[in-house]
Amino acid sequence: MASGVRSITLSLGLGAFLVLNGAFAADPAGSTGKLVRLRFSDPAQLEALNTSGQYEVVEVKGDRAIAIQHPAPTAGKLAAVLAKRVSLAEAGVAGLETVLENVDDQLAQFRAQGNVGKYHTYASALAELADLCSNYPNLLKSESIGKSYEGRDLMAVRLTGSAGLEAEKPKVLIFGLMHAREWISAELPFYLLRYLLTNYGKDPEATKIVDNLSIYILPVSNPDGLEYSQTQFKMWRKNRSPQDGGTGVDVNRNFTVGFGAGSSDYVDSDVYHGKAPNSELETRAFCSLFEREKFIASLSFHSYSELVLYSWGKDTSLPPDAVELTKRGKAMADLNGYTPGQVARILYTAGGATDDTFYQTYGAWAFTFELGTEFVPADKKIEPICKQNLPAVLLFLKTAIDSARPTTGIARQDRPKISNFFSLYDIYPLK
Ligand SMILES: [Zn+2]
Repeated sequence: MASGVRSITLSLGLGAFLVLNGAFAADPAGSTGKLVRLRFSDPAQLEALNTSGQYEVVEVKGDRAIAIQHPAPTAGKLAAVLAKRVSLAEAGVAGLETVLENVDDQLAQFRAQGNVGKYHTYASALAELADLCSNYPNLLKSESIGKSYEGRDLMAVRLTGSAGLEAEKPKVLIFGLMHAREWISAELPFYLLRYLLTNYGKDPEATKIVDNLSIYILPVSNPDGLEYSQTQFKMWRKNRSPQDGGTGVDVNRNFTVGFGAGSSDYVDSDVYHGKAPNSELETRAFCSLFEREKFIASLSFHSYSELVLYSWGKDTSLPPDAVELTKRGKAMADLNGYTPGQVARILYTAGGATDDTFYQTYGAWAFTFELGTEFVPADKKIEPICKQNLPAVLLFLKTAIDSARPTTGIARQDRPKISNFFSLYDIYPLK
């Protein structure tokens, strides 16, 4: 698998790869593309599709994949080059068939309702965070970690219990909704927050977790994108910052490590990586927070595919801590029933994503859950999906306290001390 993916990436040549790679973002006023299903026999075929300029692979299960096939540009030199690349990529797959004529129909239920069902809007997310802070003043404090392009706060809360010295507590970060259309990814942070707050002082495990850690929770990492997705164009993925010739950067391709690999140089692409690493306000807000807090672990939520993901996304080589990452990933996946694996090996190349940078640059155990089986599940599925994932998230928190640390990242002497005063890792060792 590794050699196949690598060879196609290299054989395309850097210039072509950067210019043409990635899927086109749809025109908000027009068709958003088809949802298609296909079979592949070599990961290189999937990579070729995903970087063809017209497909966006959204789900991989074994030898089957689901992708969005965006409308092709109809005129000009680019259209001709793309058509050739797309047909070459399509030649490698079998059983290519349309599942849904317009992928936006996945969200028809919400369009019909004229609202977002039980999902949070940006405004309701802010309101709930404020409510929780005022109801639990001793446990919870809010902090804006930065602003979006349109001036919205990236609002986080810090949760920690009354026991132990706060300065000694290891810090972890949990965040959701970096991709605008993945609404379910903002719901699990809220579910976790409510679970820990209401069980603190009652349930021994929840109490220990909250007392041992400083848990930063940021439910909405891309507020402008969420707002746009819920009011204008539901399949929007990127942020809303103006770019030369277009709008929006895929924030999860804008981080430093692996920048440019498996992402697009084309501004209208859904996986446009931005002008340069850290060009986006959201990216810089995350990096500043990491520099200040030195998180020892991070967990992000995306949708969809029922996966537990970890580094590398940038390529299929093994990271220095592959054994430990695999052990932790598998332990969490055992609890939520998802499939664990390295991003570039079980999905596709995704450089410039959060996990690689949080792991390599900041030395955090960085994981991502791809929640559920669709971008925006019916809102009656919010609760079951959150419930299914809660034990895995709790395991993430319990094992964060482990004194084992990545071999990469910030210098050892700069790492936060792990006081481990309740020795949670001894109570919950990974097998
Ligand atoms: Zn995502």
